[in-house]
Amino acid sequence: MQAGRSELERAATALATRIPEPLGVLARLAYNYRWAWDPDGPAVFRDVDADRWERVAENPVRLLQEAATDRLAAAAANPELLARAAALEERVSADLARPRRDEITTAERPIAYFSAEYGFHGSFPIYSGGLGALAGDILKEASDRAWPLVAVGLLYREGYFRQRIDGGGWQHEYWVDTDPDRLPTALVTGDDGEPITITVPIGDTEVTAQIWRVDIGGIPLYLLDADRPENTQTARWITSRLYIGDEDTRLAQYMLLGVGGVRALEAMGIEPGLVHLNEGHAAFVSLELARRHYSGTGSLSAALEIGRKQTIFTTHTPVPAGNDTYPAQQVADTLAHIAGTLGVEAEEIIALGRTNPEEGAEPFGVTQFALRTSRAANGVSRRHGEVAREMWQAMWPEKAVDDVPITYVTNGVHIPTWLGQPMWELLNKHLGEDWLDRATDPATWAPVDDIPAKELWDVRKTQRADMITYVQHRAVADRLSRDEPRAYAEAAANMDPDVLTIGFARRLATYKRLNLLLQDVERAMKLVAGDRPIQVLIAGKAHPRDEGGKRLVQALFESKNAPGFADRVAYLNDYDLRMAAWLVRGCDVWINLPRPPLEASGTSGMKNVVNGGLQLSVLDGWWAEGYDGHNGWSLSGDVDHDHGAQDARHAHELLRLLEEEVAPEFYRSSGDGIPRDWVARVRRSLRTLGPEFGAGRMLEDYEKKVYKTGL
Ligand SMILES: *Cc1c(COP(=O)(O)O)cnc(C)c1O
Repeated sequence: MQAGRSELERAATALATRIPEPLGVLARLAYNYRWAWDPDGPAVFRDVDADRWERVAENPVRLLQEAATDRLAAAAANPELLARAAALEERVSADLARPRRDEITTAERPIAYFSAEYGFHGSFPIYSGGLGALAGDILKEASDRAWPLVAVGLLYREGYFRQRIDGGGWQHEYWVDTDPDRLPTALVTGDDGEPITITVPIGDTEVTAQIWRVDIGGIPLYLLDADRPENTQTARWITSRLYIGDEDTRLAQYMLLGVGGVRALEAMGIEPGLVHLNEGHAAFVSLELARRHYSGTGSLSAALEIGRKQTIFTTHTPVPAGNDTYPAQQVADTLAHIAGTLGVEAEEIIALGRTNPEEGAEPFGVTQFALRTSRAANGVSRRHGEVAREMWQAMWPEKAVDDVPITYVTNGVHIPTWLGQPMWELLNKHLGEDWLDRATDPATWAPVDDIPAKELWDVRKTQRADMITYVQHRAVADRLSRDEPRAYAEAAANMDPDVLTIGFARRLATYKRLNLLLQDVERAMKLVAGDRPIQVLIAGKAHPRDEGGKRLVQALFESKNAPGFADRVAYLNDYDLRMAAWLVRGCDVWINLPRPPLEASGTSGMKNVVNGGLQLSVLDGWWAEGYDGHNGWSLSGDVDHDHGAQDARHAHELLRLLEEEVAPEFYRSSGDGIPRDWVARVRRSLRTLGPEFGAGRMLEDYEKKVYKTGL
């Protein structure tokens, strides 16, 4: 896993020469994201120049490139800061020096993890939402556990879209160019000092790609980039935007990620021992694995079988429409050349992407193809496993639903990434310093019961107040930019740090049912502005082509002039990882209202749990296995085909819970201002959910249930 390492070191050295000499340590730290989940890492960079740190979206390379000379000089003359930076570098180096574990595969034959998106930090915009955040958390936890793992993805020059909402609540999209030279990444070069490139035949074009390396702790992430002079403008556009709307470009992205990804690893001398496909986007990996073995076997199925033996597939999509399919002819055109090198008709490959291979009219599905060409497959929660087995049972007509070979590994979150500083310090104090290394053991969390109520409550108050300061600022700015009347914009500054605050933030697909919050506006507003008030924070993007999702926000804005709304309800523009971090740390209650059984897992609630937030959610996805009757609140997870009736029931039950249970418990205290019952529920939530929904448990499950089975 050496490829690109010295290039990153060279980039760090080049940056170091442009800043005062004592800050060289920061330039070295900047080129590996390991600092991002060190307790003092973000603060060390922030303390160089707090305003600039904010402006550059916490990108350490840009901070050091762009900070004013006098700021850098002041930092270089600040012994306290330099001592902290030195200590940080020591911790990071010690962490990275640990030998890789070799129980699953070895450093010589690492696990190769493929994903179309990665959300490991807000400064590196190659993610859209939950799938990317999960991939980022997996890389960080794999680093913490010293797994021999390399990751493969695409470097999108314009990333995912940015969101602006107008005064009528309609979403507008725009894209921002990212300049890789201003990111902590470097091109992988060969012995001649030139970038290593690979080519992939896509349709009738030979597309060339170069490879960038980003270090996420001990995990190198290799990103393919088609922005090469050899390529036509259209070919360069392949790595422009994540989840691009144009279908030909999207298929080309999948070819580049799958086929190109395997070729890139080979070009860098990396031979994977195991291949893990995070969702179907990378399914074409198996074609390239097969191509390598084809000459030895002479048959497509025998060649595919060799690749299949080392491939693992995770499916994330319980919505049939969410599983990408393409017309057979379009796929045939895209694959024509590579099928030719395999000596087979494209149709033979396409058949493997059909639920029923003989059904010529059926389109090609990437999920079906990935299921057929991997040795083991899993969904991402217990319930999603059941749903996936039922959904894909038709591919195994001879098997009963329960025997369909799709297991489950429930998602988890990387705890140090999502934990607020005050909560982290509290847990350090009560769970023992090395508690993060023991976070999957329920015994580790038992001392939560002994944390004095006041200490726990004070931490909750601090994290809420910090978030409210951020929200006031953001919400006023957003409203001003929507051209709202000044008084309306300024009303967002009335957000109160001591008021019960609930959060709803995620991708705005219709099945997530944001509309349930305000189904009955009058009743909701009575609650929001009553004598036990509630603040509501909402954020999320709808896919540019999802009109239904966009209409959810628009409908919300129809109530914006209801009495009390301006002071207590805020819709925040442009949800991303950084905003998610603020919201999950500060919100008292996290709400999730998916239409069951369409939530594969959900992870934002888990991020809120570790911060002492409580869940109010439909019993779907992870909450169906997390809820124990006392560690939060639930809405029925039953399936009902009468959507209108189900919506009405859930909307009613949601308000009833808030009115009769959540708000009274939050505001009921015995004179000292501490709500004992609330704190008891927070303790129970931490104790029962803490050991179960961290990324550590998830990786242990992958190892036991998926990586080591089906061989
Ligand atoms: C965690 C996260 C998500 C996932 O949210 P769900 O509630 O699981 O859908 C989406 N977007 C961002 C930015 C996140 O951090």
